[in-house]
Amino acid sequence: MLKFHNTLTNNLEEFQPLDGNDVKMYVCGPTVWSFAHIGNFRTFVFGDVLRRYLKYKGYNLTHVFNLTDVDDRIINEAKKAGKTIDEFTAPFIEAFWEDFDALGLERPEIAPRATQHVAEMIQIIETLLENGRAYESDGSIYYRIAAFPDYGKLSKINFAGNVSGASGRVDTDKYDKENANDFALWKLVDADEPTGWDASFGRGRPGWHIECSAMAIKYLGETFDLHAGGVDLKFPHHENEIAQSEGATGKQFAKVWLHSEHLKVEGETMSKTAGNYFTFRDLIEKGYAATAIRYLLFSVPYHKQLNFTFETLDGAEQTIARLRDFRKRLQEANLPDGINTDLEGKVRGFLADFETAMDDNLNTSVALAALHNLVRETNTAMAHEVACTEDRSLILHIIDKFEAVFGIFGEPQEEILDSEIENLIEERRAARRNRNFARSDEIRDLLSEKGIVLEDTKDGVRWKRK
Ligand code: AMP
Ligand code: ZN
Repeated sequence: MLKFHNTLTNNLEEFQPLDGNDVKMYVCGPTVWSFAHIGNFRTFVFGDVLRRYLKYKGYNLTHVFNLTDVDDRIINEAKKAGKTIDEFTAPFIEAFWEDFDALGLERPEIAPRATQHVAEMIQIIETLLENGRAYESDGSIYYRIAAFPDYGKLSKINFAGNVSGASGRVDTDKYDKENANDFALWKLVDADEPTGWDASFGRGRPGWHIECSAMAIKYLGETFDLHAGGVDLKFPHHENEIAQSEGATGKQFAKVWLHSEHLKVEGETMSKTAGNYFTFRDLIEKGYAATAIRYLLFSVPYHKQLNFTFETLDGAEQTIARLRDFRKRLQEANLPDGINTDLEGKVRGFLADFETAMDDNLNTSVALAALHNLVRETNTAMAHEVACTEDRSLILHIIDKFEAVFGIFGEPQEEILDSEIENLIEERRAARRNRNFARSDEIRDLLSEKGIVLEDTKDGVRWKRK
């Protein structure tokens, strides 16, 4: 029985979709003003594992994942670069999907962009103006939190005593929890500002929170099953999404809310502002495999903090290599016909352990332990020559089931022998001696395609498999 810890109720609850076998889910996506860092990707990998496990359980999924392509930073950065916001965000959107695919994240069914849904946002703001939950001040439109008595039900922050109205308004999208105030739904823009949309209540641009209400309702309906995002979004972003949506429709917005904890570096949240971040690209350039980065990011359950170190990333590299090697050895082993029922019983037990762990609020570390136990038991059976052909078929089938959720084995690469690598490195050395850098680069690229990374050190060239 699949259970989730629902932030809204603060309980571990059995998951029951609203509509039979169909699950509707919304995950907040990136702000495309720069390259996403691996902290962002921890949250997106969590969204992917959630997605894959729901599919594993046989649900039909509609998964919406938005791109925030307009906010203060994007507008300012675009202006500095002398570009429109679309021109400015285009390369970051392209890079984002490249990284997303490389990390083995499955594309969501719908990936809407904020700038393409401003009409839907305007409609919700109009409803809120009509029912008194929004008001105009100095040309901008604010949400009146005092008119929504449930405000605070997600973040469990007690807002009693907070001043609402002119003295308690905030214009910034990201504010801290001491500042529970009326927030901007629509910001007035100067007449000569190129980024702006016309609305019945004046030309302006949307605040950050309204986009998710508009896109979730448009694609998933007024009430839907699951809403997820990083823990920093709980307040104010998700609290505000609830206030806007429920304030406009009068119906419950999302039933279940899931929040993933942050990726930390030496105890601090990895973030652009703190400067303590690595993008996915940084790590790939250092020679790490995407599958190892993915493994690291979900190896700790989503609701626990994960501390990033290069030691653990190196460990993940070795683990991935060991797993791949195991699968290959098993595929190629010369085994006696038949089945070893003792081994069969054990490996079926590991599959059951995996499902029990994932059912328990996606406990990925215990689920991974089931995979490692399967590898250990099978290795022992192979060493004692008691693994048989039918066990092999079953074990490979179970690995495929794990893989449908974990996505860590990656595409099988064409093998290259150590001796071939050494020969190519020798040829590259000769090419460099002869100042034939074109050939030297060609060899490096060829090796890279085969998953081999070269490192030029003062003691010569070192290589490793990705
Ligand atoms: P942003 O691009 O800033 O809108 O953030 C995109 C997503 O990344 C949000 O769901 C954030 O909660 C999440 N996020 C930001 N920093 C971290 C971090 N250090 N660890 C995990 N998730 C993060
Ligand atoms: Zn959102």
